[in-house]
Amino acid sequence: MAVDEGDRHLIQAVQRGDQAAWRDLIARYEGRLISFARRMCNDRTEAEDLVQETFLGLVRSLPAYDTERSLETYLFAILRNKLSDHLRRRRGGQRQSIDSLEVDDAPEAWLDTDTPSRYVVGRERVDAQRRALVDVLRAWAEQCTDRRRFQDLIVIEMLLVLGLRNKEVAADLGLTEPAVAGIKFRVIEQWRGLAAQALPDDAWDEADLAGESTLARLWQEEGISCLKRSTLGRFLLGAVDEDWAHYIDFHVHQADCDRCQANLADLRSEDEQDAAARDALRERCFTSSVGFLSRAE
Ligand SMILES: [Zn+2]
Repeated sequence: MAVDEGDRHLIQAVQRGDQAAWRDLIARYEGRLISFARRMCNDRTEAEDLVQETFLGLVRSLPAYDTERSLETYLFAILRNKLSDHLRRRRGGQRQSIDSLEVDDAPEAWLDTDTPSRYVVGRERVDAQRRALVDVLRAWAEQCTDRRRFQDLIVIEMLLVLGLRNKEVAADLGLTEPAVAGIKFRVIEQWRGLAAQALPDDAWDEADLAGESTLARLWQEEGISCLKRSTLGRFLLGAVDEDWAHYIDFHVHQADCDRCQANLADLRSEDEQDAAARDALRERCFTSSVGFLSRAE
């Protein structure tokens, strides 16, 4: 998802110490965060604690916050970390990942980047490469939706996020195996094309995707193909066409995107009950964090 203009203004105001903007920011995100936290941990109080800690985490990192980054991605990343720590503690120190979709097959090999020797490059450079790669993937995903190439998106998510083989994707979508291989080939060419426009010379081939930042993980952490909240809202109202609806249904349910599920759950419950609980949570998040805001001024 691209950086939202409204978010950008909001976060800039918050960085200046604007308390009303901070309250607005909490109001804007608490619902989807609480929906997400409650899916992962059934206890409402614990989930609320984690959301409160998430906003505290954001406010503490404000001085270094990069406004070019998607705020939703950033908040979900903080919450994921908190949840992971929390669940680990609850399991009594036993190390377990909550990320059931950790795919360690080698989609990064698609891009011929088996270059562990380049691991020695500085952290900053890796971050810059990661950022560039995210921009490329995001631009590609946007092109897919603009040009209504939903099948390409579905095929890539099946391969990358679900870790399926060409054969399995073909069977599931009623395609031939060579057709799936052809789509994959074409998409990688598109990525290379976009990268050639965006990156200097050999930066793409040097992109260090080994280790922590495999494409699959990047794809999910950054919500590369996640739907805008406004799109999800229209989906709930039945106001998107059939192809769009089919893709959204795939992304949310088959690819099991927890972030879009959280947004949908939040949108669904917006009109219902919960208003009082929501107000209470907002006040609690605000009160516990606003002190850090004035200190950041
Ligand atoms: Zn999503």
